Amino acid sequence: MSTRLRILGGTVHDPANGVDGEVRDICIEDGHIVADLPGGAPTLDARGMIVMAGGVDIHSHLASSSCNHARRLLPEERSADPAPAPALLDGAASSRSGTGGTVPTTFTSGYRYAGLGYTTVFDAAVAPVMARHSHAELEDTPCVDGGFFALMGNDEYLLRQVAAGEKERARDYAAWLLGATGAYAIKIVNPGGVEAWKSGQRNLSGIDDVLTAHGVTPRAILETLADSANQLQLPHPVHIHCNNLGLPGNVAVTLASMQAMAGRRAHFTHVQFHSYGGPGWSSGAAQVIEYVNSHPELSVDVGQVMFGPATTITADGPVEYLLHKSSGRKWVNIDIELETGCGIVPFQYKDKAAVSALQWAIGLELFLLSRDPWRVVLSTDHPNGGSFLSYPALIQLLMDRSVREERLKQVNPKLLAGSALADGLTREYTLNEVAIITRAGPARLLGLRQKGHLGTGADADVTVYARNADIAQMFATPRYVIKGGTLVVEEGQLRRAPTGRRLHVRPGYDDALLPDLKRYFDAHSTIAFENYPVQGIPDDPLPLRP
Ligand SMILES: [Zn+2]
Repeated sequence: MSTRLRILGGTVHDPANGVDGEVRDICIEDGHIVADLPGGAPTLDARGMIVMAGGVDIHSHLASSSCNHARRLLPEERSADPAPAPALLDGAASSRSGTGGTVPTTFTSGYRYAGLGYTTVFDAAVAPVMARHSHAELEDTPCVDGGFFALMGNDEYLLRQVAAGEKERARDYAAWLLGATGAYAIKIVNPGGVEAWKSGQRNLSGIDDVLTAHGVTPRAILETLADSANQLQLPHPVHIHCNNLGLPGNVAVTLASMQAMAGRRAHFTHVQFHSYGGPGWSSGAAQVIEYVNSHPELSVDVGQVMFGPATTITADGPVEYLLHKSSGRKWVNIDIELETGCGIVPFQYKDKAAVSALQWAIGLELFLLSRDPWRVVLSTDHPNGGSFLSYPALIQLLMDRSVREERLKQVNPKLLAGSALADGLTREYTLNEVAIITRAGPARLLGLRQKGHLGTGADADVTVYARNADIAQMFATPRYVIKGGTLVVEEGQLRRAPTGRRLHVRPGYDDALLPDLKRYFDAHSTIAFENYPVQGIPDDPLPLRP
C-alpha cells in the first residue's frame, strides 16, 4: 500500500536545494520526497507554518555502554524526571515508560528527539568491543535513524601499526573494525593521551609528545586515521576530539592538530572545549574559527555549553579525573579492554561561575564568527555541554541578539574581557542558517545524501513548526514531525514511534590483515576473534563516497 501525504502551503527552508522561505507543497510517497502527487492525496495543512527537513545530530551520546554507566551513576535523575509511556496510536508495543534527565533512557531519548523535530542521531563515541550494546540501545531508540562512531585513537592494535609505520595495515584494520562493529565513522579521542594516562605515563599535551610505551605521537595517530578515512572513502571523515580538552591554553594544540591535517578532510568536534587561550583562562575562539573559516577541507561542531545540569561522558579518562578532583563530584572510570577509556562526571554549568560563563561565550563566538554555516554546525556534545533539549534555547541565542545581550548581562564577566562576545557581536542567524546548522550541514558533513534536505528522493523526514514570536518555544515544540513518511508528532503530541534505520558502513580491506589480527586476538582479547564481529546488524551498509 502506498502512503502519500501532501504538506500543503508551508514556508519551506531547504538550503541544500536553494529554497529559502518559499511557500510550496512538500509531497511524500512511500517514505520519500516526491516531486508531486495526484489530486486527492491526503493533505497536512501547513499554511503559515515553517517547514524544514528533520534535524540531524552529528554528535551526541545517547546509545552506548558509557551512557548506561551514566544512567547508573545518576539515580537522582531517574527519580526527578519520570517519563510515562506516551499515548501512541500505533499500539502499546512500542510505547514505553522511561526517565529523562541529562541521560534519558533509550525509548525516552527517541521520543524526546522526535518531539524536538530531530530524526537522525549519531552516538559519537563507542568502544568497539561494546558495539553490540550500542546496537541493542539503538534498537530501543525509536523515531530516529541512528548510528555510531567507533573509537580508534588509543586502540592497542592500531597503535602498534602506527608505531611500525604500517599505514596500509592500519587502514585495513580501521576498515575491518568499522564493518565488524557496524559503525559509521572513525572517532579519535585525545589521540595517544588516554593510553598514556591509563598506563601510568602523564597525559600527552602536545601533538609531538611521545606515548612512550609505543613510541608514537598524537600527530602520527591523527595523520594515519585521517588518511585511512579518506582513502576508504568513508562518507564522514575522521571525527577528532583533540588532546587537552577543557584545559586553559589548549588552543595551541587544537590549531596544531588542524595544521597537521595539511589539506586532509577532517571534522573537529566540540571545538568550544578546545578553544581556550592561556596560560590563564581566556577565549581562543577567534583563532580557531579563523583557521576553520580559511580551510574549506575542515569542519567542526561547536559543543556549546548551556547553563544548567550536564553529564560529562567521554573516552577521555584523564580529563574526567581532573574534573572529578576539581568538582568533587562522583565519577566512573572504565578501562575498556585494549581499545579506549571512559570517564563520566555529572556537572553543573552556572552562569555565576567564571569558567562556565567563558565556555558559554566561546561557543557563541564560534557560531557568530563562523563564515560558513555548512562547516560549523550545532551541537552541545549532548549531554556534555547540556542536554539536546537545550537546542531550542541555543537557536534563540543565535537568532535573537537582544535575548543574547540580556543573558550576557547576567553571567559572571570576570574572564570575558577581550572576548568578541563581550565586545558585541551583532550577527543574528536567519532561519535558513538555522536549517543549515541543524540539518542540511550535518547531513552533508556526514555524507548522508538522503538526509537534511527536501529534494526529490530524500528520506521523508520533515519537521513543521508553528510560527511563534518566542523562537525557543517554536523550536522546542514542533507542530508536526514526519519520520520516513510516518507522522510521528501530530499537533505537538507524539503519536507514533516507528523503529529507526541503522546507519553504518562496511568498507573493503585486504584479507592479509586477518591472520595477524587473529594472532593478536588470541594473545590479548577476552573475546574470540570469530565472535567479535556483530551479527545481524539491520539495514544495508550505506554507500561510500564516489
Ligand atoms: Zn562527545
